[in-house]
Amino acid sequence: MKNCIIIGGGIIGLCSAFYLQKEGHRVTVIDQSNMDGGASYVNAGYISPSHIIPLSAPGVVKKGIQWMFDPASPFYVKPRADKDFLKWAWAFNKSCNAAHVKKAIPVIRDISVMSHELYEEIQKEKGFDFHFEKKGLLMLCQTEKMLEEEMKLAALAKEAGLEALVMNQKELQGLEPHVKLDVLGGTLYKCDSHTTPHEFMSNMKSHLLSKGVEIHSNEKVIDIESKEMMITGVRTDKKMYRGDEYILSAGSWTAMVARKMGIRLLLQAGKGYRINVPRDTGITYPAILAEAKAAVTPMNGFTRFAGTMEIAGISEVVNQVRIEAIANAASRYYPGVSINEEEKKLASSGLRPLSPDGLPYIGRSGKCKNLTIATGHAMMGWSMATGTGKLVSEIISESKLSMNTDAFHPDRKF
Ligand SMILES: Cc1cc2nc3c(=O)[nH]c(=O)nc-3n(C[C@H](O)[C@H](O)[C@H](O)COP(=O)(O)OP(=O)(O)OC[C@H]3O[C@@H](n4cnc5c(N)ncnc54)[C@H](O)[C@@H]3O)c2cc1C
Repeated sequence: MKNCIIIGGGIIGLCSAFYLQKEGHRVTVIDQSNMDGGASYVNAGYISPSHIIPLSAPGVVKKGIQWMFDPASPFYVKPRADKDFLKWAWAFNKSCNAAHVKKAIPVIRDISVMSHELYEEIQKEKGFDFHFEKKGLLMLCQTEKMLEEEMKLAALAKEAGLEALVMNQKELQGLEPHVKLDVLGGTLYKCDSHTTPHEFMSNMKSHLLSKGVEIHSNEKVIDIESKEMMITGVRTDKKMYRGDEYILSAGSWTAMVARKMGIRLLLQAGKGYRINVPRDTGITYPAILAEAKAAVTPMNGFTRFAGTMEIAGISEVVNQVRIEAIANAASRYYPGVSINEEEKKLASSGLRPLSPDGLPYIGRSGKCKNLTIATGHAMMGWSMATGTGKLVSEIISESKLSMNTDAFHPDRKF
């Protein structure tokens, strides 16, 4: 039994705590926030093994440059003369090639499929009753060009062993009889599920507390004490914590904390937004509005519209121009749906932790013997969380790993 201290109580930190506690370890989670907002609460709730393409893919940089000058675009990179950002941007650009995507597909698929199975397992555990539905995920297209691209992606997913169907307008409308769709066609990934994130987070926190896990919210880790490549303690703004093993799952803030140990992790924050509509929209299928890059999820009691990837540093400020763009996209694809001013005013943001190659960092850094890093999951942190938590627990327990984690090594070169 080891005494484990987890820095960061988002979905990755909590899932790590879940599997570590199951293995019989003593676990403490420290989080600087109230643990009720940010990426792990505002996300679209997709558990989507279908998302096999990493963010760093061919064409992304060109598209990003085109979109940089459009204030309503779904993807925005703020150019900065900051050394960490420039290094990250260089490595990201280098990763945007077909060979990298080919190598990334099987590992992304494996951790996502494993995570999906683990969510299903957790849902059956006593005390868990979070919303979880396996209806699949639609990719809705309004243009021939996008439909062609999505058909190619569906073929790739099929090759990777995932179930994907191409659907015409009539078939799609048949799936959604209570809301009008303005689309040309699309694809359906039957392998995907969706959830209501705050329900899972709340179930998980209650479960962990009931099992004796200590959770300290509103406490920020401000310093790390170490000796001979071993952490001896972490200091928060309230007190000192000492353990045998430390897990760094501080999301977009991870690089700042890692630096205190002399570890330089290439990581940027990718801000996204969500709008909740607590009225009946008629929407029953989760869908990605392919041209607009917006996500739609029928959650428990409301419909969530989410989107935007703003790489502009650590800032949670809500940009109303982009909120307007998400709302407009919703009305373009679902002409009967209109998001009102009050709903837009209540929009919220979250920061996705982005590695330069679109793969998470999961594992021990060679620079510290008792530190395990778990972050960098980008747009797929919700989908990969349970698998990540299990891997973290296996690393610390020194048991056989559920999958090969070489591609996730925190010291990998870009
Ligand atoms: C709009 C949007 C939609 C998304 N949709 C999906 C989706 O449908 N499916 C999917 O798979 N993924 C989705 N994602 C991505 C997913 O939400 C993230 O990858 C995931 O939540 C990241 O979890 P995390 O635990 O690493 O980070 P976080 O949730 O950010 O948690 C990190 C925690 O660390 C804490 N922390 C930071 N620094 C310190 C410190 N010094 N001391 C103590 N605590 C600290 C923070 O307070 C925070 O609570 C979406 C993200 C967004 C923004």
